[in-house]
Amino acid sequence: MKSSIVFSILLSILFTACSQKEEPSKYKGKYFSYYPAGKLSPTHSGIGRMGDNYIYAPGIRFPIEHAPAYINSQVYGVGGYLGPKGSLCDKINYTYPWHDNYCEKRGWSMPLCATGKGHQGVDIRTATCERKKYYAVAVEEGIITSIGSYTVKLRGKSGRTYRYLHLDSKTLQVRKGQTLRRGQRIGLVSDNMGSTPTSIHLHFDMKQTIKVGNRSKSVYVPPYASLVAAYKRLLDGNP
Ligand SMILES: [Zn+2]
Repeated sequence: MKSSIVFSILLSILFTACSQKEEPSKYKGKYFSYYPAGKLSPTHSGIGRMGDNYIYAPGIRFPIEHAPAYINSQVYGVGGYLGPKGSLCDKINYTYPWHDNYCEKRGWSMPLCATGKGHQGVDIRTATCERKKYYAVAVEEGIITSIGSYTVKLRGKSGRTYRYLHLDSKTLQVRKGQTLRRGQRIGLVSDNMGSTPTSIHLHFDMKQTIKVGNRSKSVYVPPYASLVAAYKRLLDGNP
């Protein structure tokens, strides 16, 4: 049985950015710090969902096996194709605080983004700038529903579907139809995007049915707040 979580979204309150905290939050006793959900960096990279701190995927495991990991922009970060010149391996790309990049400028149709278009999920760098060293893992128990050239889909018990992009396809640990337990290895994070170059990172997104206005819609929902919570559990040794 899958029970899609359906709830109302009050769009009017979600984009009230003015009263939001703009400084990074620090996590008690750890080095981890993160900017609030919806605060994109640099500002010209797009309009995030400031104020939407709703945890769409409560209790998920962080999708990379081990900390540290870094959520920030691949496109507008150092070495990115619209970012400052430099190496993709620049230390600044491997430093806290995290920056949300859901709704970053892209051509994808995205009803929950301010412009109706944007990045469908978030991009996560692994501990170091090395291919095929760090495992992406199942965020919840579920079944592998599809494996594309650089995309693996996991449908969780919750009914939510998660996508993992840019894993090394030759060393995938899963096959279509396989049932995974929470935390089970899926594959190694790499820079696989077919013939298009990209940085070494995991693109992670989550699709679920929610109510948009008065219609139920299956949409890519904001993963950042859920990932901040999951990462804190990982840092606490209780992933
Ligand atoms: Zn991405």
